[in-house]
Amino acid sequence: MRIVPISLPTPFYIGPVNVYLIAEDPVTLIDTGPKTKEATEALREALRKARVRVSDIRRIVLTHAHEDHCGLARSLRDEAKDAEVLVHEWETGHRIGRLEYEEHRKLLARAGVPDAEIEGMRKMYEGVRKYADSFAEGEYGPLWDESELQFETGALRIVHTPGHTPGSCSFLREADRTVIAGDCVLKRITPNPVLSPDPIDPTKRFPSLAEYLVSLARLRSFSPTLVHGGHGGPVHDFEELFNRYFRAIRERQAEVIKLVPKAGVSAWDVSTAMFPDADDVHRFLAVSEAVAHLDLAHSEGKIAVEFAGDREVYRRA
Ligand SMILES: [Zn+2]
Ligand SMILES: [Zn+2]
Repeated sequence: MRIVPISLPTPFYIGPVNVYLIAEDPVTLIDTGPKTKEATEALREALRKARVRVSDIRRIVLTHAHEDHCGLARSLRDEAKDAEVLVHEWETGHRIGRLEYEEHRKLLARAGVPDAEIEGMRKMYEGVRKYADSFAEGEYGPLWDESELQFETGALRIVHTPGHTPGSCSFLREADRTVIAGDCVLKRITPNPVLSPDPIDPTKRFPSLAEYLVSLARLRSFSPTLVHGGHGGPVHDFEELFNRYFRAIRERQAEVIKLVPKAGVSAWDVSTAMFPDADDVHRFLAVSEAVAHLDLAHSEGKIAVEFAGDREVYRRA
């Protein structure tokens, strides 16, 4: 069972995205690239080289529902005459037609983000969402943790690896301990634990960083020999990456805790202190990062949090 990595251009700051073709029955594409002319052309060219037609695709599997990964899922599925689309049920985003604006807005307000900034983030997101079609309820199937995607000559085990998003999944080929990890593992940068409503109780925040640490440890337990990430080259030394990520996360934790005074701050204050120059989508990612670290520090008893009106205020414990 051969895994063919395909790099596709994206209009996003992160650069090209990796999608993966398994060119045997049932022909499967893991992630699709964004809905742009450039990505569509590059994907067609790569499929042609692999002697696969779009109409041969029987299964479209999504590591997560960010635009750069899921954007073309719907048009490919339509062209492939109803190929099956699979995504974890905790994944929201473009999996469902309704984007969780209201839940997100509430989470941002709780984090102390000023109304004008929230409005700016919403407008920015309106611009991004055109790079993906969404799916209605019932148009996709679930990915179950620990179940397998079967192929003619092998299988991929589905490993739910939440953190970057609640429904992020990785895929393990046990025979040679190869993992396709989406944005859970990126060669050069630590993935952002994106602020998300909890899929079980959307009035709560998903504990993205705590979940992410568990996911990394779980991947490590497989002793991967090769990890294919969502962006950048393959990772041959997962142990080195694991230790580097943990070090970076610990350092960021210490930095965040230093920014929390006795008098109290909001996550927004922490994010602007940490990333004073962030603009555009990076403002949202900076808030995500601050909230994720504050949540983790709070869960470890290092800082306290209380509500002041509908905003959360963090204090040195
Ligand atoms: Zn992503
Ligand atoms: Zn990505």
